[in-house]
Amino acid sequence: MNAPEAGDTAPYIGWERRAVIDLSAIRSNVKQVADLVAPAKVMAVVKADGYGHGALPVATAALEAGARWIGCAHVAEALALREAGIEAPMLAWLHTNDTPFEKAISAGIDLGVSGWDLELIAAAAQAVQTPARIHLKVDTGLGRNGSTMADLPSLLERSAKFQSEGLLRVVGVFSHLAVADEPERPETDLQLEVFDQAIEMVEAAGFNLEMRHVANTPAILSRPDSHHEMVRLGLGLYGLSPFEGETPATYGLRPAMKLVTKVANVKKVNTGQGVSYGLRYLTAKETYLALIPMGYADGLPRVATGAPVTIHGKTYPVRGTIAMDQCVIDLGLDIDPEQFLGAEAIIFGEGGESATTWAHAANTINYEMVTRISPRVPRYYVEGTWGQAGD
Ligand SMILES: *Cc1c(COP(=O)(O)O)cnc(C)c1O
Repeated sequence: MNAPEAGDTAPYIGWERRAVIDLSAIRSNVKQVADLVAPAKVMAVVKADGYGHGALPVATAALEAGARWIGCAHVAEALALREAGIEAPMLAWLHTNDTPFEKAISAGIDLGVSGWDLELIAAAAQAVQTPARIHLKVDTGLGRNGSTMADLPSLLERSAKFQSEGLLRVVGVFSHLAVADEPERPETDLQLEVFDQAIEMVEAAGFNLEMRHVANTPAILSRPDSHHEMVRLGLGLYGLSPFEGETPATYGLRPAMKLVTKVANVKKVNTGQGVSYGLRYLTAKETYLALIPMGYADGLPRVATGAPVTIHGKTYPVRGTIAMDQCVIDLGLDIDPEQFLGAEAIIFGEGGESATTWAHAANTINYEMVTRISPRVPRYYVEGTWGQAGD
């Protein structure tokens, strides 16, 4: 997992293709956001293996840089981090009736509660003789998890009963926003108003809350009125911008992932050469084609024809259909093929285009682009820049 020592040639298998994760960028992003939201605390959201960056190294770096909480979707994700030695407070919020609540409570993992899960959590607390710490989740408009406002009185009543029995403690209330990445839309205001009403109800029911939290990355950056006592930082932790047309640099954020490989083949072909499955690209003239040995099994979306690959500082669009293991770019005739075979090919990240540009080519968002980089791509962890092919 760690960067090899200088001069170490052993990790060759990983040099062929790698996601280089700059932990100094993770730290810098946490510091940037911590300063912005202070005195609110930062929860580093590391679900989905840290949005593809590696949950454990990211969580460790984020805590070093001042994040106070770790957020996961699944209890299983939080348990894995506990077992790996992460001692910080943690919250998990997406459960089923198979979620290992007893293990979560024993491991000191706080639980988001939507309603149906309250009784299961109370029973688990009873079984392990430890009170659960819960954060009531309110659906203020997203229409996914969380209690509706109509069901909230019942949830509060049942929670109060379990709390009086010593089975749990309501320590937080939270909600999730639907359109915070589109700041001009009015629904965020409405959601924040409903959230305020929910907080009033929870407090009127006599719970002594440690924290209220609703802000995700877009709200962290655009809605200071949403910060409350804690913010849940996901995308921004990884240095990506949630806003269409705004770069991370606008917010002092640095992208942490660089996805690179090496050119696997270069050859001269004739006019009219078909390229890749379906022959959806035909060369317009005699040219050199370069083979890029990454494809959809590595997490490059199959539909991302036209996405940029950067070699020697110049960007070439992917031509034809991206295959499972590889894709093709057209270099033109005016190149020295010897300089290209084995050259570093940057899919996205420092020195190349952004994950956001790739996302646009695939008609998706940068969240999905980084999160879906597959386990076949080794992750290397560096401080600052490292990992130029041929170093
Ligand atoms: C994923 C997630 C976040 C983080 O959202 P970003 O937009 O990536 O910052 C926050 N809260 C909840 C409930 C989430 O599921």
